[in-house]
Amino acid sequence: MTNEARNNLILSMNDPSNILYSDEFVVIVADQFPKSVHHYLVMPKEDLFDVRSLKERHIPKLIYMELKGLEYVMRTTGLIAQDLLVGYHAFTSMNRLHLHVLSKDFCGPHMRQPHQWNSFNTEFFIPTHKIISELQSIGRIVLPPNKKILQQPVQCNKCDFFTNEIKHLKFHLKMFHYVP
Ligand SMILES: [Zn+2]
Ligand SMILES: [Zn+2]
Repeated sequence: MTNEARNNLILSMNDPSNILYSDEFVVIVADQFPKSVHHYLVMPKEDLFDVRSLKERHIPKLIYMELKGLEYVMRTTGLIAQDLLVGYHAFTSMNRLHLHVLSKDFCGPHMRQPHQWNSFNTEFFIPTHKIISELQSIGRIVLPPNKKILQQPVQCNKCDFFTNEIKHLKFHLKMFHYVP
């Protein structure tokens, strides 16, 4: 990944045309590669690279990011908190910590590869409460040992069905779990 690509998030949070919400502490932008119908990123203004940069003193900021993200997305989409997936990727090559807030349909135009599904539907995706309890108990966060879980077959998030093809999973979701 080039240095420029690595800093895309910082560029996007500094470009006023991308900013949907901003205050003293956080910026909210739309994910440029949406994996669900609604997909947003909440980023701190503080220069934190990723989840590995987090210390116990960041806990209030993590709570604030989650609250602001939920508040913004619920207000603009009409969805309720239970409809939304909120959390961080264990590993990322992008500079700047970012909280994903997305609807649980996973029908965005950029949900195309098994690793993308797995990055949101396995332990690769870390909810805020898990990060907070680990910072409180051991002072750092526990990451999955490697990125191999991204390559595993994709498992339906609503039943036992699994497959190696994201298009089969999408068809399955539509056939068996679609709620209009
Ligand atoms: Zn991410
Ligand atoms: Zn299913």
